[in-house]
Amino acid sequence: MDAQPTASHHIAGGYADDPEGAEIACIYPASGEEIAKVRGATPALIEQSLAAADAARAEWAGLSGTERGRILKRAAEAMRDRNRELSTLETLDTGKPLQETLVADATSGADALEYFGGLAGSLAGTTHQVGRDWVYTRREPLGVCVGIGAWNYPTQIACWKAAPALACGNTMVFKPSEVTPLCALKVAEILTEAGLPAGVFNVVQGRGDVGAALVRDPRVAKVSLTGSVPTGAKVYAAAAEGIKSVTMELGGKSPLLIFDDADLEDAVSGAIMANFYASGQVCSNGTRVFVQDGIRDAFVARLAERLKGAVMGDPMDEATNFGPLVSAAQMEKVLGFIDSGRAEGATLVTGGRRAERPGFFVEPTVFADVTDDMTIAREEIFGPVASILSFADEAEAVARANATPYGLSAGVFTRDLARAHRVAAAFEAGSCFINAYNLTPVEAPFGGTKLSGVGRENSAAAIEHYSQLKSVYVGMGPVEAAY
Ligand code: NAD
Repeated sequence: MDAQPTASHHIAGGYADDPEGAEIACIYPASGEEIAKVRGATPALIEQSLAAADAARAEWAGLSGTERGRILKRAAEAMRDRNRELSTLETLDTGKPLQETLVADATSGADALEYFGGLAGSLAGTTHQVGRDWVYTRREPLGVCVGIGAWNYPTQIACWKAAPALACGNTMVFKPSEVTPLCALKVAEILTEAGLPAGVFNVVQGRGDVGAALVRDPRVAKVSLTGSVPTGAKVYAAAAEGIKSVTMELGGKSPLLIFDDADLEDAVSGAIMANFYASGQVCSNGTRVFVQDGIRDAFVARLAERLKGAVMGDPMDEATNFGPLVSAAQMEKVLGFIDSGRAEGATLVTGGRRAERPGFFVEPTVFADVTDDMTIAREEIFGPVASILSFADEAEAVARANATPYGLSAGVFTRDLARAHRVAAAFEAGSCFINAYNLTPVEAPFGGTKLSGVGRENSAAAIEHYSQLKSVYVGMGPVEAAY
């Protein structure tokens, strides 16, 4: 498959380019080779994209929800039909194994388009009788939305933002991460083929400066970012200057609690899902694995054993289930965290090295005897590194689990039902799991508390973040006045 897109940007229903834009090389993480090139958006292209989104607003918002939904659902079907092609591109963009991308990326994007396409026709206001008079509400779009993506799920992130935004009658300019610029262009292409009017969904490439220029623009009503906490703080502050709504899907350092009574195999599977899927590049990962004393040794031994089943190799080979990190920079960052784990006294159980093969592969790594103050237990690594911490009782585990400035996710494995729900209620996190981990169906709200974010994606809750209520007071007369 040729990864090179037709052009760098997709604006007003077609591909666009500007030879003045700064070059961005697309590096295939499994080989380190350049597979495509795009250009960052110039000020002229940024202007074109925002003008197109602004011009498309009235017509798109003027359609019925059912008509908007029909287009989104048609796009969902096209994504499913083209799943293999889109998954191959996702693998080229990110390095994630095809075994994963075939089931987790375009399919998840299609779910969002289908779900919000289905909701679009039933968006409605309410009526309230107030004595003789009454009030009704209209659920209205916000206007032009800006979506900014991280590099770990480029197709999914574009769809998770576009689907609810477009269902509510907004238009969008989406900027993918400069590390993975390819997939969002396909989403724009498919939406256009499905009948989306020109300008409703636009994609522009670029680094943080392009994102910042989009966020600043006075035509923009809402900004939805998926990214790190430091970027989130900057984008939130810039949005605040224009009193714009935000959705912030940011980083985490989530806890996973394994109690003595848990099913050992299930708990190990959960820890694998929570640490090694996508080579650990998942925001909701449960990277602080707290294991109760009675099960700890068996758990660590079984986890190390099961990790021998990780097949590192060509991501296009469907037998491969463990891919590289997205970039050389990310690999260096992760190796740095591994060095700090060693230096600060954690016990390396398995892994710990860069793999001896081309590309940016780091072995699945487990540290035991990790304490709460160690760097690997406090900072988001975003790589295949699990930290095992021990605990004695529930109250201690919950207190330590919550002792973090982040609050994206948290999980618990136990056979004690009452404890499972008690612990889930006590977690300071937005997306929690009981005897499961990292499952994010479109029906469930997804998002963080504390530093991990603001707002929710997916589910009917996302509608609240992409629409506003207007209330209309209807006087039935006569009108009373003081004088
Ligand atoms: P990042 O913060 O470096 O970049 C995110 C995006 O923001 C990129 O598109 C980047 O170009 C853009 N950007 C950077 N500076 C900007 C600025 N000043 N104004 C506007 N845009 C700007 O994040 P990343 O390294 O691409 O992704 C990894 C991070 O994303 C991790 O912290 C991870 O936890 C987080 N993440 C969160 C979720 C979630 O849903 N909560 C999902 C995936 C990733």
